[in-house]
Amino acid sequence: MNRLHIAIPKNTPTNKDKIISSFKDTSVFIFDFDQTLTKDHIYHLLDSEKTQLEDLGAPPYKDKEVCKNLKELFEYLYKNNKTILIASRNFNDVIYYYIRQNVYPHFSLMNIFTDRHWFFNKEIIKVDIKNEGKFKCLKILKELGVPAKSILYVDDNYQEIRIARELYSDIQYYWKDSDEILSLEWLNSIFNKE
Ligand SMILES: [Mg+2]
Repeated sequence: MNRLHIAIPKNTPTNKDKIISSFKDTSVFIFDFDQTLTKDHIYHLLDSEKTQLEDLGAPPYKDKEVCKNLKELFEYLYKNNKTILIASRNFNDVIYYYIRQNVYPHFSLMNIFTDRHWFFNKEIIKVDIKNEGKFKCLKILKELGVPAKSILYVDDNYQEIRIARELYSDIQYYWKDSDEILSLEWLNSIFNKE
């Protein structure tokens, strides 16, 4: 079986070096899901028989600190009229359940390929459609003419960041540490650094 290998350069840049524009100029925030918005890798917690988060029983995934900070972050981005996208290969229903239950009750699942008004309706938080590929949202953003420098992509996996930047050069990105918690403080630290 052929497997795609993507080499990671030895001198991978530090993530904070790549946040170059201001918060005001950044209009679209794209987040990976597993271990970017969550502490556990939820996709790996699920097996093929149990694709619903409820089926895991006692939630091993639930981390109150992570969810509380994420809730504040999402509400802040929403209030500041930012577009939030979740780009993931995890199941749509798992992401939907997790975010609605733990983070943001107004979360909406939309097919951004057929419902183009998503971009202009800031009341909705969107998730990419798994079957369409994790990075198809970048293609749509390109079609909409969204400048690369107004997009911030956040992922815990540098290989994924490389793919995103190959698809959309000059996109801003943040390579998150696995134990780092996304929060308002985090947002402040990346946009208000010296
Ligand atoms: Mg991840």
